Amino acid sequence: MAAAPVEKYYCKRCRAPLFSASAVILKSSYWLSFSESLQGSPVEKKSYRESGNIKIEVICASCKQHLGDVYDDGSSPTKERYCVLPKSVIKKL
Ligand SMILES: [Zn+2]
Repeated sequence: MAAAPVEKYYCKRCRAPLFSASAVILKSSYWLSFSESLQGSPVEKKSYRESGNIKIEVICASCKQHLGDVYDDGSSPTKERYCVLPKSVIKKL
């Protein structure tokens, strides 16, 4: 039996695949949290300064859309937790 296809989250603007639905760790109406980005996806991390703190922004490198922020308190081996704005992505097979 073939494995069920896993849905992916695509960039709403340029339709690049960014995250796998299997990497979702938290889902709310404000945030989608992922433990990792899709291998080979154009997800790019960029640090910036906000009120004295260094934060890391996640962008789609293909269209430069802001997707959210990355935090290092995740439970995955990389400790990364991608907090993505639900309105910046679309989910489909
Ligand atoms: Zn994009």
